[in-house]
Amino acid sequence: KKKIGILTSGGDAPGMNAAIRSIVRTGIMEGLELFGIYDGYLGLCKNRIVKLNSDSVSNMINRGGTFLGSARFPEFNLVKNRLIAINNIKEKGIDYLVIIGGDGSYIGAKKLTESGIPCLTIPGTIDNDVVGTDYAIGYLTALETVVEAIDRLRDTSSSHQRISIVEVMGRSCGDLTLAASIAGGCEFIALPEIKYVKEDLLKHIKNRLSKGKKHAIIAITEHICNVENLARYIEKNTKRETRATILGHIQRGGKPIAYDRILASRMGSYAIDLITKGNVGKCIGIKNGKMVNYDISYALKNMKRPFKSDWFNLAKKLV
Ligand code: ATP
Repeated sequence: KKKIGILTSGGDAPGMNAAIRSIVRTGIMEGLELFGIYDGYLGLCKNRIVKLNSDSVSNMINRGGTFLGSARFPEFNLVKNRLIAINNIKEKGIDYLVIIGGDGSYIGAKKLTESGIPCLTIPGTIDNDVVGTDYAIGYLTALETVVEAIDRLRDTSSSHQRISIVEVMGRSCGDLTLAASIAGGCEFIALPEIKYVKEDLLKHIKNRLSKGKKHAIIAITEHICNVENLARYIEKNTKRETRATILGHIQRGGKPIAYDRILASRMGSYAIDLITKGNVGKCIGIKNGKMVNYDISYALKNMKRPFKSDWFNLAKKLV
């Protein structure tokens, strides 16, 4: 029987459990043996590997986070640590790994594949910054969470004629901020893909206020600026109370929406399909509603996530 190891890596994302469940259940149907590796690449080095059966993934479809745990383990870029991991994989007789995570996790998977451990990767991150897919597992659930938070801020901002700044996750990808801004009706958006000029933002907000707008919501992707300082700058220059809210890890938690459960289930099952066909070293994605796969190293080297400039132009028209 071929043996498959599964691990979740990088930031956790709602729907990862549904993906693990799908890999386990469809894998068992194909006569494969399944193993869970706890705590991502760290657990691989620490040999935290357990056998999984159909019951191990009961009651998981609706649960946020990842029951296998995840970890940031930058030391996995060291050859000596990867050799420990490879040794553990071989000792357990594991033939293939399925890795659910973001682009950092993909790099680890590429290196393992090149060292003779064939991997498949499934995109799981709320940032949606992974190449080779329209959607990563967890992104649309996080989007709902961010929009709900913006709605709540809107209620209180408009009651108090206040300016609200919301900091949204995404690292160097503005997808979550952009989509949430359109759905949440934000007055100004700052994204990593677009040059940010503090003075332009102020000018825009002043202009809105002069037209009688009672409140304003500004959405900003993390790492663009210090939102607390920005709030003080806007308050000083508009004489309007301005508050910053960093949504932080609230965006990561919560049960996955139905779409993410379905996406995760499809991707998990597709991973098993690819393995049974001997089609490995691939990253899995969804493109125009269909499951697709690309060579991991090709995708990391040659593919770029497109910026949705049409969405950005729409957002600007709607303020
Ligand atoms: P998210 O987008 O949610 O943050 P991610 O997968 O991009 O997820 P990272 O922390 O960048 O998160 O990567 C996850 C893990 O992948 C790292 O902690 C590390 O163990 C492994 N990894 C990242 N980069 C490399 C690399 N260059 N070589 C080997 N392993 C790596």
